[in-house]
Amino acid sequence: MADKGTLYVVATPIGNLDDISKRAVEVLGSVSKIAAEDTRHSKKLMQAIGVATPLLSYHEFSGKAVASKIIAALQSGESVALISDAGTPLISDPGYKLVCRARVLGLRVIPIPGACALTAALSVAGLPTDKFAFEGFLLHKSAARRARLQALAAESRSLVFYESPHRIVESIGDMQQIFGSDRQVFVAREISKKFETHFLGTSLDCLAWLQQDSNQRKGEFVIIVAPCDELEVEARKLQQAVALVKSLRHDISMKRAVAIASEFTGARKNQLYSAILED
Ligand code: SAM
Repeated sequence: MADKGTLYVVATPIGNLDDISKRAVEVLGSVSKIAAEDTRHSKKLMQAIGVATPLLSYHEFSGKAVASKIIAALQSGESVALISDAGTPLISDPGYKLVCRARVLGLRVIPIPGACALTAALSVAGLPTDKFAFEGFLLHKSAARRARLQALAAESRSLVFYESPHRIVESIGDMQQIFGSDRQVFVAREISKKFETHFLGTSLDCLAWLQQDSNQRKGEFVIIVAPCDELEVEARKLQQAVALVKSLRHDISMKRAVAIASEFTGARKNQLYSAILED
């Protein structure tokens, strides 16, 4: 592999330019080219850090030809850096296909770690971080977004979402309705920038915070939702199981319907019988 080049996956700042690492500057200055999501945007960063390496456009819609060009450069011994517009490439940003191809071909792929909105927000949220699930962006269409949130309602890990100013109110509104008004949420807005703000409280209070001040609806957001607590998880399982029994009951015996619903949702059979009798 010694004669092959290295693909460096380099994190860049998510706001404050001083967050670029010394190692990132060295690598960006030493590679033969930098594959960037938006070359015009990245040119400003390169000027600020004094790097004159040629930039090559590589984004979500780049065809295979661009990736092939980068792979050919690596195979001929040149090293290439991959950056995105902000933060860590591949984290809700392009690069997966390129890294995958480089790995399949046995090329060296080295991360240059640095800023990432996901980890920055988690590190200050004050919500459980021992286990979390990164959901990236929710879907734009209301029905699809709500269906996804519904599927996550009983999640026992903290949930992390990225959100834009266009949908922050709708998303928090949906979370309040689906996860409940008391669920704790954390919102980190404009991390490392001049107008950075944070909110930690219930989903209901978060919605009010956003609605009361239009400034809080501007910029870039990370939303972290606290895990569903154990009692709520059990209650939601039971709710799902009762609904399932009701729909199966027309075609099969009660005993069989309860067995299927219990297996499918994890709800306990005795609790399920009691819930059905009370319903
Ligand atoms: N690769 C980036 C990273 O490492 O975090 C994420 C890129 S993704 C296209 C952009 C989204 O990340 C924004 O819409 C926002 O949800 C989040 N984000 C990026 N910078 C942020 C910041 N300074 N403050 C809050 N959220 C940010």
